[in-house]
Amino acid sequence: MARPLTPDQILAAFDKWGVTYREWPGWKTRGRPGAFDDVNGVMIHHTGSDTQSESYVRWLFEEGRPAEGIPAPLAQFMVGMDGVCYIGAAGRANHGGRGSSSTLTKVIAEEYAGFSTEIKPGPDNTDGNAHFYGFEVMFDGGQPMTGPQYDTTVRATAALLDAHGWTALSAIAHREWSARKWDPGETPMDEFRRDVRDRLAAGPGNDDPPKKEPKMPSEKQIWGHRERFMTWIRDVYPDLRKDGWRPIAMLQDVFARLRLVYGRLTRWDWLVNTLGRAVWSRRAGGDGPMHATRLRNAERNSERAMRLAEENNKLLRDLARAQKITVARTAVAPLAALAGEGEDDSEPAVEATEGAE
Ligand SMILES: [Zn+2]
Repeated sequence: MARPLTPDQILAAFDKWGVTYREWPGWKTRGRPGAFDDVNGVMIHHTGSDTQSESYVRWLFEEGRPAEGIPAPLAQFMVGMDGVCYIGAAGRANHGGRGSSSTLTKVIAEEYAGFSTEIKPGPDNTDGNAHFYGFEVMFDGGQPMTGPQYDTTVRATAALLDAHGWTALSAIAHREWSARKWDPGETPMDEFRRDVRDRLAAGPGNDDPPKKEPKMPSEKQIWGHRERFMTWIRDVYPDLRKDGWRPIAMLQDVFARLRLVYGRLTRWDWLVNTLGRAVWSRRAGGDGPMHATRLRNAERNSERAMRLAEENNKLLRDLARAQKITVARTAVAPLAALAGEGEDDSEPAVEATEGAE
């Protein structure tokens, strides 16, 4: 039975371990209703996006996804690529969702081969939000964390573990909690736990610069991506040959959908413009043949616009489905890194389909 740290204890622990942090307004009293009185460990996530904006931090701590039954806060802590740890909540957060009781048992006992392997979770049958602090590390998982980001995540984790008197075996990945998840992406958890263990052993006074640099993914990791990618693809494109690796056919399909949507949106845009001009004309007290033509066009076009809008919505829904293809980026990112290609600016996306409380 371990009570969660109080806000003062969290700050003291972070200060002790030299964590670079920033307190998000209201964090000391922020939390979800529900059990959070017997914490057992720390869970590491990735946001699933390289977005680093403050509005994203605010969204994750203050808004969340209430429409999906997953209101904020979606974690107690976030760690940016610059190595700043945002503290957003001291109470329960919606980050872990349901997960494996066998994992929890291992964490409580701190008895498993966690410095050389990762835990394979059992069925989702336990409320993780009641038992774990959550770190949302702000990266998309398709590449390693930045050096400062990794160092801060290690330090902050070590700080919480130390404050509780736990070992590094009390830190797990979300994917070790639930087989539904793969975060925190390119972060081998056995290695992460070794680094936390070493940090704890070195003590809080150790101010070494981050020793970790982003490294190339291993061949095994790359092929692992391919496997995950193909699983997704078979889900999205069940008609692809079961045994086939057909990225070209799939990409062509996505491009065709994109072109279709673009074409429709362009036409819709034109119709909306026509309507807009008619409205403007009327408001301006227009008169004469031009005005009459505009009104006639508007009348004729409004129905078409509505119809097109509906078709567009359907197309966009289909496209969104096809865009599970964003996983392609995940699969390709390590290869791109090997090829020395640059950053990619993806839209904010969130891995946090965590269970509601
Ligand atoms: Zn997660």
